[in-house]
Amino acid sequence: MNTLKRTLLASALALLSLPVMADSAHPKIGFSIDDLRLERWSRDRDYFVAAAEKLDAKVFVQSADANEQKQISQIENLISRGVDVIVIVPFNATVLTNAVAEAKKAGIKVVSYDRLILNADIDAYISFDNEKVGEMQANGVLKAASKGNYFLLGGAPTDNNAKILREGQMKALQPAIDRGDIKIVGQQWVKEWNPTEALSIVENALTRNNNKIDGIVASNDATAGGAIQALAAQKLAGKVPISGQDADLAAVKRVIDGTQTMTVYKPLKLIATEAAKLSVQLVRNDEKPKFDSQSDNGMKKVDTMLLTPTLLTKDNIDLLEKDGFYTKAQIDGQ
Ligand code: BGC
Repeated sequence: MNTLKRTLLASALALLSLPVMADSAHPKIGFSIDDLRLERWSRDRDYFVAAAEKLDAKVFVQSADANEQKQISQIENLISRGVDVIVIVPFNATVLTNAVAEAKKAGIKVVSYDRLILNADIDAYISFDNEKVGEMQANGVLKAASKGNYFLLGGAPTDNNAKILREGQMKALQPAIDRGDIKIVGQQWVKEWNPTEALSIVENALTRNNNKIDGIVASNDATAGGAIQALAAQKLAGKVPISGQDADLAAVKRVIDGTQTMTVYKPLKLIATEAAKLSVQLVRNDEKPKFDSQSDNGMKKVDTMLLTPTLLTKDNIDLLEKDGFYTKAQIDGQ
């Protein structure tokens, strides 16, 4: 074969290996999830896949297992598979600038799911109103302990939600701090939202304060679970009001038992269905998604859809059953 023929053959082969052109009737969606090992994210996945399939889309799911390098390679892999849109629950909000730029260069839309990706050219962001969640958490604890020493148990420092939650919490706590009713005796972020880490942070906080902690504003149910174990070891479970969010099954049982004061219900079916819908809309470019605001991610103002969370206490926890989030058997089960 002469050189010219060889060059022509090589270019033909290169063309064949290019990603298939977008077929907007059957969009291909990549779903890159921080960590599927957590209860809520596997539910998000199931609802998302079901909703996307109803819209004639096909979903490729990847779990980064809380590893930022793994998430970056998985996104690169989705790009080379030629998906039309990548939906991302970022593990680390600040490290995806280049991966997102690569996707955009390949003509792929990018959606930030639940957590905002910072400093990146993303097309949309969908979440619950996290500031509101933070306010609900602080107000829930304040209602049960209007005075005393408070400890703030923050979420993962790599998760932008952790910071927004804290802003919401402080908005609710500040007037009580200013009145001198409550005093923040400590605050710490929990790496990777890890319950074991939360347990040891609260153990240390109790020791440092001679167990004189009157309220704990925990930022989700998983970390509240760890904190409550630390309280239980000091026979304080049920005596120190503590917040959470997600309505994890274990947390719902704790709310019923009285060891956790409140949780926040975020209907995962709603966010997953809306996210699937908006992803397909972005690919088909027919209908415009119903954005309600914009979020500044450091690079641009991102079109945003924020859904409404609901505060749950013992008094209205039966909403979960009514809404089909759990069956009665699941809530009553051991
Ligand atoms: C989510 C929470 C979740 C936490 C840990 C946050 O970004 O909004 O619902 O509990 O991550 O996975």
